[in-house]
Amino acid sequence: MSLTIPDARRNASPYLYGREAASVARVLEAGQYGHTDLTAEFERRIAAHLGVPDAVAVSSGTAALHSALLATGIGLGDEVIVPSLTFCATVQAIRAVGAAPRFIDVDRATLCITPELVMEAATEDTAAVLPVLFGGRAVDLNSLREDLTERGIVVIEDAAHAFGSHRGPHHVGADDTALTCFSFGPVKNLTCGQGGAVIPRTPEEAATVRRLRMLGVTQSQSERAEATSYQVEGFGLRYQLSSVNAAIGLTQLDHFDTTVRSRRHLWRAYSDALGELEGATLVDVDLDRTVPHLCQVRVPYRDHVFAHLRARNIGVGFHYPPNHLQPAFARWTRDLPATERVSREILSLPFHQHLAEADVHRVVTALGHALKAAGGR
Ligand SMILES: *Cc1c(COP(=O)(O)O)cnc(C)c1O
Repeated sequence: MSLTIPDARRNASPYLYGREAASVARVLEAGQYGHTDLTAEFERRIAAHLGVPDAVAVSSGTAALHSALLATGIGLGDEVIVPSLTFCATVQAIRAVGAAPRFIDVDRATLCITPELVMEAATEDTAAVLPVLFGGRAVDLNSLREDLTERGIVVIEDAAHAFGSHRGPHHVGADDTALTCFSFGPVKNLTCGQGGAVIPRTPEEAATVRRLRMLGVTQSQSERAEATSYQVEGFGLRYQLSSVNAAIGLTQLDHFDTTVRSRRHLWRAYSDALGELEGATLVDVDLDRTVPHLCQVRVPYRDHVFAHLRARNIGVGFHYPPNHLQPAFARWTRDLPATERVSREILSLPFHQHLAEADVHRVVTALGHALKAAGGR
């Protein structure tokens, strides 16, 4: 049985190294399904990799965002500045604490928010800014540092795309002015199968997220095993990362350097191949600092180009339908011209481990045909 489709038919797939299954088998054989020392080891390895004092592993990227918002006390009556152009999980996390998303536009060239766009949108009610590190790009709000602190606005980064990327000399996550949230979902830069992490700013924040992810209980598993009671200290959910998922993540970390090289190599191959093609504009990244999560182009007649490529078994994708136009978030909709424009232009090319350079050329050639066909309609 083959579990992978080794060509350009799919848009994304995990980078796997043939060792993940054995790591999981060891956990299952040892009968350690829940949150165990392995999860703690995963946290230490993530923290060491990023060069930060601590990392708190949780069950998903969505759980990471929700926990970070809870830990910083964001809730009813608060406004959270967020780009509309993101996965719906970002906005659902804001809604989960009862806060209101204040949707903002993005820069068409990077698909990311800018300090200017944030400051334009900030109001009395703004309690947090939630930048999305789209495609792995390290959005930099450092120029707003004093302004935001003065207004009591916290920065919670959605770095679901950006594990491994750098901002200046440091890893994304190492900035102590923001809480950073990673996703280790199936197709993210690093995968646990399903998982996530919060990088807290302080030991207190770390303790709060640890309590939140364990139903509000602070005693460790071994402490609970030795006592006839436990204490529920506050609100909490079942958000911990299982050792099964931690085992996958640990194996992934062993090979992360290879993932970084492969993703950059593939992105560069696309960049070179697209250089010869008229009509498609690559959404650029700073490849030295970024672990590219997606390879996106802006094209005219996008829906036609998309359909043309899909009909030819090229796994093009789309990231993402704008949230301010979603029925669930209609109450918070506003005019976002750049977002609406790019959302009609962007197309995600197949981007994963199973693509050879020949596939890249096949995709780009097919894209050329699709552009001609769409333009000549
Ligand atoms: C994947 C993703 C999330 C959510 O992560 P999950 O692990 O799937 O819950 C949040 N934001 C963005 C931008 C994502 O791509």
